[in-house]
Amino acid sequence: MTDTIYHQAGAATPIAGNDLETAFKAVGTRFGYDEVRVDYASYKEFKSTWRRCGTKISFEVSDYLRNAPLEVLVDFAHALYERIERRSSVCHYSDRLKAYLESDVFVGRNQATYVKRSRNLTRSPRGRHLDLRETYEALVARGMVPPSEGASLNWTRSENRMRVGYCSVLMRVVAISSLLDNEKVPDFVPEYVLYHELLHLDDGLSEGRRHHTPEFRLRERQHPQWRESEDWLKRLAARRVDLA
Ligand SMILES: [Zn+2]
Repeated sequence: MTDTIYHQAGAATPIAGNDLETAFKAVGTRFGYDEVRVDYASYKEFKSTWRRCGTKISFEVSDYLRNAPLEVLVDFAHALYERIERRSSVCHYSDRLKAYLESDVFVGRNQATYVKRSRNLTRSPRGRHLDLRETYEALVARGMVPPSEGASLNWTRSENRMRVGYCSVLMRVVAISSLLDNEKVPDFVPEYVLYHELLHLDDGLSEGRRHHTPEFRLRERQHPQWRESEDWLKRLAARRVDLA
């Protein structure tokens, strides 16, 4: 009801669905396109796709950008067109776009949807054996990582063996393999994996694919049991530990 009133009252304000078209058409003209189609798509990851034919182009843009301010959509459109022109795999985001993607507003709007779309997550920090929230709080209390407000900590449903932890820095979502939620695995192992992922959240959004920089590795080794943990993870990957 409120929505209807808003759109009727704000006749001069483009409705949210049209902001996307407004942005992509305006920027597309500058890049020489005369026919631009754009829609939102519900990809799990924050990604966008396009098809191009001469001066015609159509986009499917991540619906995590729904309700973003027009100027942010303009910057995003610019980043995509520029990337297409450069035939590059890297997108250069403006400071304004980055600030929006790193804002609590963006995470607040999208984190729950992202977690729901991630089928392999239990959507809870509480495991059979270990509560990741407690592990996180212990790491913060020891000054190992700064508090990561609003981070969503989850166990995976399947017992991933090779990929024991991963995160979406953008959505502030961390996933730890339920393989490590086992009383036969020392608690410092899942703690070390969680620590690694929290370091990524602390690093924030990075351009390109340089995630494990030498500085990152130095910080990782500040964990008192990094060596034992790495050893455990190797043995788990090689199935040299009996967890039954
Ligand atoms: Zn990593």
